[in-house]
Amino acid sequence: MAAANLVAKGQPRVFSMLERMISTGTLPASLLFTGPEGSGKELAAMRLAALLECEGSAACGECPPCRSISTLEHPDVYPVYPVPSADREKSIPVIIESRREDFLARGEFGARARSIGIGQIRAVMEKISRRPFSGPRSVVAVMEANLATMEAQNAFLKVLEEPPASSVIVLVTARTDLLLPTIVSRCSEIRFDPLPDAVTAEALRTFLSVESGEAERIAAIAGGNLQRAVRLLDERFLGMRKDAANIIGLVLEGKARQLPAEAEAAAHNYTREEVAELLAEMTAVMRNLLRGVEAGIAPEAVSAASSRDIPVDIGKISAASRSLGRNADIELTLAQLLLDLAGKWY
Ligand SMILES: [Zn+2]
Repeated sequence: MAAANLVAKGQPRVFSMLERMISTGTLPASLLFTGPEGSGKELAAMRLAALLECEGSAACGECPPCRSISTLEHPDVYPVYPVPSADREKSIPVIIESRREDFLARGEFGARARSIGIGQIRAVMEKISRRPFSGPRSVVAVMEANLATMEAQNAFLKVLEEPPASSVIVLVTARTDLLLPTIVSRCSEIRFDPLPDAVTAEALRTFLSVESGEAERIAAIAGGNLQRAVRLLDERFLGMRKDAANIIGLVLEGKARQLPAEAEAAAHNYTREEVAELLAEMTAVMRNLLRGVEAGIAPEAVSAASSRDIPVDIGKISAASRSLGRNADIELTLAQLLLDLAGKWY
């Protein structure tokens, strides 16, 4: 799995720790991979599986177990993905097939709400309660574990309380705050760093055939987030990113009168899930301003940014995002946020 090897290169601290734990027999039975979105946590979980199952050395990528892990066909390795709840049975093979083809694929189900249901957790529990088929261990990797329903999380807690001796369980999430605290406390947390720009650029070149200069430019904007980098290649996402940069530009230039119309337009053009992405992009624009790399907003707005307390602004955007997650009115929440962000100017 070439992509997984690249992630090992991008997360040297994480992998030297994991490899040391494996070689000394101290790998915990339950791990929590946390850290920023797009930092390669899912790929890392699959690479950990390869490190444990490999017949050669250190996830060689060539032996039968390594090869079957890279195509998600290993009989003892169980990736669990969130899927649309209305259509779970049909959706699970769809996502496995999609990730098998392209591990960097995202958004198979568009803007539909996804979750991990109790049935998915029970199915995995049943499998790991038996002896592994081929290797010494079974490996469960629960991707976007924060999307597990409360019911599913409670069921999962039981596995974590008494994990089968032969299994390793990895929960992957950027949002530990959405997991039951009892789940978090039963896992050993391994924190990922944002990916280095050079590794993001290499992934774009190698797996998506992006031309070298373009790959570096996108990697710099993506700020260590490979998922964002991949999505920056997508037209619709570029449109959203442009909207985010435009809104931040208006905020920074203090054009408060135009902001309610922007909120109205966004509420009209985007679904609730997409507005959450729009807010994430606004945050990304702000972070890039802090790092001095943002392209796409007016120079006047960039210079206005230097007099602002950007971390405070980012906090406000996150708070609005949480309100939207609790079903707050989209237009009202956005309008309040934008006026609040611009408020320093009046
Ligand atoms: Zn191997």
